[in-house]
Amino acid sequence: MNDRVDTPNPVIRLADYCPPTWAVEHVELDFDLGIDRTELEATLRLRRHAPGPLRLNGEGLELLEATLDGRPLTAADYTLTDSTLEIPLENDTAVLRTRVALRPAENTAFEGLYLSGSRDSGFLLTQCEAEGFRHITFFPDRPDVQSTYTVTLRADKARFPVLLAGGNPDGEGDLDGGRHWARFVDPHPKPSYLFALVAGRLERISHDYTTADGRAVALHIWAEADVIDRCDYAMDSLIRSMRWDEETYGRNYDLDVFHVVATHDFNMGAMENKGLNIFNAKYLLADFDSSTDDEYRHVEAVVAHEYFHNWSGNRVTCRDWFQLSLKEGLTVFREQSFSADMNSAPLKRIEDVALLRRAQFPEDAGPLSHPVRPSEYSEINNFYTATVYEKGSELVRMLAGKLGKEGFRRGMDLYFKRHDGQAATIEDFLSALGDANDTDLTPYLAWYGQAGTPRLSVTGQYDADARRYTLHMRQRTPAGAGQIEKVALPIPVKLALFGKDGTMLPLRLEDDVQAHGTERTVVIDSAESRVVFHDVDAVPVPSLLRGFSAPVILEFDYAPDELAVLLRHDVDGFNRWEAGQQLAGLAYDDLRDGHQESAAVSAWTQALAALFADSSIDDALLAELLTPPGEIELVERQPERDPERIRATRVQLLTALAQRIGASALRARYDALRARTSNTLDAASQAARQLKRRVLDLLALVDAGAAQQLAQDQFAQAPGMTDRLAALSTLGHSDIAAAAPLLGTFRERYADNALALDKWYSLQAQLPGDGALERVMALEGDATFTLRNPNRVQSLIGTFARANPTGFHRTDGAAYRWLADRLVALDALNPQVAARVATAFNGWKRLEPVRREAAHAVVAGLAARTDLSRDLTDILGRVALG
Ligand code: ZN
Repeated sequence: MNDRVDTPNPVIRLADYCPPTWAVEHVELDFDLGIDRTELEATLRLRRHAPGPLRLNGEGLELLEATLDGRPLTAADYTLTDSTLEIPLENDTAVLRTRVALRPAENTAFEGLYLSGSRDSGFLLTQCEAEGFRHITFFPDRPDVQSTYTVTLRADKARFPVLLAGGNPDGEGDLDGGRHWARFVDPHPKPSYLFALVAGRLERISHDYTTADGRAVALHIWAEADVIDRCDYAMDSLIRSMRWDEETYGRNYDLDVFHVVATHDFNMGAMENKGLNIFNAKYLLADFDSSTDDEYRHVEAVVAHEYFHNWSGNRVTCRDWFQLSLKEGLTVFREQSFSADMNSAPLKRIEDVALLRRAQFPEDAGPLSHPVRPSEYSEINNFYTATVYEKGSELVRMLAGKLGKEGFRRGMDLYFKRHDGQAATIEDFLSALGDANDTDLTPYLAWYGQAGTPRLSVTGQYDADARRYTLHMRQRTPAGAGQIEKVALPIPVKLALFGKDGTMLPLRLEDDVQAHGTERTVVIDSAESRVVFHDVDAVPVPSLLRGFSAPVILEFDYAPDELAVLLRHDVDGFNRWEAGQQLAGLAYDDLRDGHQESAAVSAWTQALAALFADSSIDDALLAELLTPPGEIELVERQPERDPERIRATRVQLLTALAQRIGASALRARYDALRARTSNTLDAASQAARQLKRRVLDLLALVDAGAAQQLAQDQFAQAPGMTDRLAALSTLGHSDIAAAAPLLGTFRERYADNALALDKWYSLQAQLPGDGALERVMALEGDATFTLRNPNRVQSLIGTFARANPTGFHRTDGAAYRWLADRLVALDALNPQVAARVATAFNGWKRLEPVRREAAHAVVAGLAARTDLSRDLTDILGRVALG
């Protein structure tokens, strides 16, 4: 159980880091597993590093006995608090043995050892990152203490036929009384957060894999019997990930077995425990009938992410939790590169940047803003953020871009070689990359220490007489996160120039004797700088920050027709999409401000109508181009936010687009795409499904009757979940009453499929407008709803609070009060999940006055409570600052 706090949370500071006093060279763990009660004997072989007592973390543990070097300890020999065990030690080595009792079935926080599923049929598992191991045994629970592990599991054989722990198998056998045992040895020293065990009734699928360096590895994916036939795609993804890491980074797997386990009860996405990855079932199971194309891609990406951690995270781990992005930012970057190689690279980039803008930019613009490497925290669980993960990946991407493909590989080779087996820092990472390339990368350290999204303001100036074009660039990072003064950052700007006819111009920059190439990257590293282009015959259209070469907000005062040029002609797939997003933003502003004759609206709709008719464009890219920024991104375009108005304006914008393309063209395209309906996952089929969905949504705006009928038919005939869910969503948004029977059908069809039911909840949670809260409250009464399952909570409560702006931000504040009640109830069960959901209140201060006041009252009321967990208290305390 998490401790409740009534004093302010202590703050942990990076500046206070001290190396551990004691090392643990080897750990032996002996478990007697049971659902109600588990006993664990831990033997720690200790070696002194520095003077001082032995201080171990331990929370919620019932200490049964302790011996030191074989001698029993009495209460007088140590100091035990609710979070530490301190033993004064004279010698430089010692062997400490403790026996504790745990109560897995009572652990609703899913941190430490807990039960997934029911008492009768569920299984036991552990989650230790970041500080869960201290809920299992007394230990210096910090990532710079690395040990080899020998783990023995004992349990009733009928109830727990499968026993797993990380490492290589080292024997198993039967015991008296229907019990059995299994032992595992992990030869690679690891921090305690990577320990894991699993015990229960599980099925498996297996594959024999041989690494590039010749090691035979048994791959096993484990799941409960009813879902084991949905694990094949994960196995394929795992095999692809392993090959890719061998080919791209020269990294081989390093144990004889690799286990992956699916659970429905998990706080986060998945966990990279050494040799025993544990996954939220949502990111492991997939089948065509119940998973969407997006979900297949997520499975592929998360399987890869956790596997890649075996090097970026496990072999080289973090010195302390401030360095979290050392493993997470790097691993997200590796995962994104892998997905780009497996699928379409430009589409992957669009998806990644869209996520960054939707999740990280708002986080970095308010009171939860923090640097990629925070300098302090009160609860580390709350720093598994979009900033640490997504912005952290962008920083690695900038470094990789600067060093080039071969240089980056050289740098990564040195990083892995130099720090293998160590707990490293961000500085170590930059030094290794730099040393391998004779480059000083320390200027990039500022990106890790400085919060906030930098703004890059660019103006263009054309001198016809001199045939010269000058870009003036100014960067500034807004004050925030306790940092007033911000330094200038190195910002790589990849750029090109286009003629008005859409051709790319050859580039001659200041130092060039003659023009060469059509694309260049310039690194802007001072507050103001300029880039001069020679031999330019007419005012060009600059394509800036191509491929989103740096995580900044670019400001350039484009005219609508200039953006239209890029939208039609830019060969950089990302910037082409970006031009469309910018243009849609201008069009949105005009509609919001009541300008009926908007040049931006006609430029945007005209360019897209032309692309719609152009058969050479990829279906998936077209679908992305036809999607303007979402309500959450549009929120940034006004100081005082009114979600109703944002939504209405966006619908107006989409309607203008649908009208320009025309109902008959939309209908014809829909029919053509429907004729290609398939039940396969190839890129072309996925793209067709994605475009079909966009087209149907647009058609619903200009011919609702026809679109609703098509949606009904599509729902009835869909060969898989992508088409089925899309039809339901279109219909739900268009006519909720007409969708009701179909929702009923869906509910019945998937009554035994938790992940499909989650989609049923989240779809309904997203339906906008009046009545949304009442709908969500009615769904809370469904027999399958429970606050005890994080996926269920996220799909209903999380989705409503984060992805239904008009529903959540009702002017009367009823949804705010409702969420506050749910957070309190949820916090008593699972603080980590409560804290995540509570971030939905972030940004309340920038709402229009009526909503702002209502939200503030609720947030302030919650923040004033003294009976909440450290996790939730931390988030509320910061969010309340506004
Ligand atoms: Zn990760």
